[in-house]
Amino acid sequence: ESFHDVDMGEIIMGNITLIRYTRPTPVQKYAIPIIKAKRDLMACAQTGSGKTAAFLLPVLSQIYTDGPGEALQATKASTQQFPISLVLAPTRELALQIYDEARKFSYRSRVRPCVVYGGADIGQQIRELERGCHLLVATPGRLVDMMERGKIGLDYCKYLVLDEADRMLDMGFEPQIRRIVEQDTMPPKGARQTMMFSATFPKEIQILARDFLEEYIFLAV
Ligand code: AMP
Repeated sequence: ESFHDVDMGEIIMGNITLIRYTRPTPVQKYAIPIIKAKRDLMACAQTGSGKTAAFLLPVLSQIYTDGPGEALQATKASTQQFPISLVLAPTRELALQIYDEARKFSYRSRVRPCVVYGGADIGQQIRELERGCHLLVATPGRLVDMMERGKIGLDYCKYLVLDEADRMLDMGFEPQIRRIVEQDTMPPKGARQTMMFSATFPKEIQILARDFLEEYIFLAV
């Protein structure tokens, strides 16, 4: 069992070594090949299982192999950004943790991660976005705000991740999530790859999975 079982490219492999991850955790071992095979995924995994790297590593790897394509070109410095990947998270703390890992894994690459969350100065976050954003980590309410201000477009969003989906629903974010995922400019399911992570799998999550995922693989670790 090693990260070298799946080739994620030189940059990712180098950054895994730099960050000193020696062995994949169970959710990484199973989720990485599924995501690399371009399948939609519903994964039941707890905090602390290594789920962040389980989606960030293969998504970043795909972004590198996709590029330098139209999406990377479209996302040069401008007032509106078109991220190739969007990660939705329930809280500022989780969004920041995901962003920190994304920065480590995208070290020495052309991919620029950004993070936006509520309860903080939006002007500062807009200035960061305008420097370029390929992978956006966001809390749902703040992202809706950014879209309404014309700062973010999801037209090129090929990789969509919903992290801690059950917590996002518990916090009442379903309307915002649906607004983001079901808007006209977001590539429809099948044209994007969607990954949902949740600690639990109640009815409401099953309905979201049915609505957002295309012939998905179910993984429980
Ligand atoms: P997460 O469940 O994604 O919040 O990860 C929990 C913690 O485990 C984080 O501090 C990660 O940096 C760490 N971690 C994730 N994957 C690995 C790994 N393969 N080897 C060592 N540490 C890891």
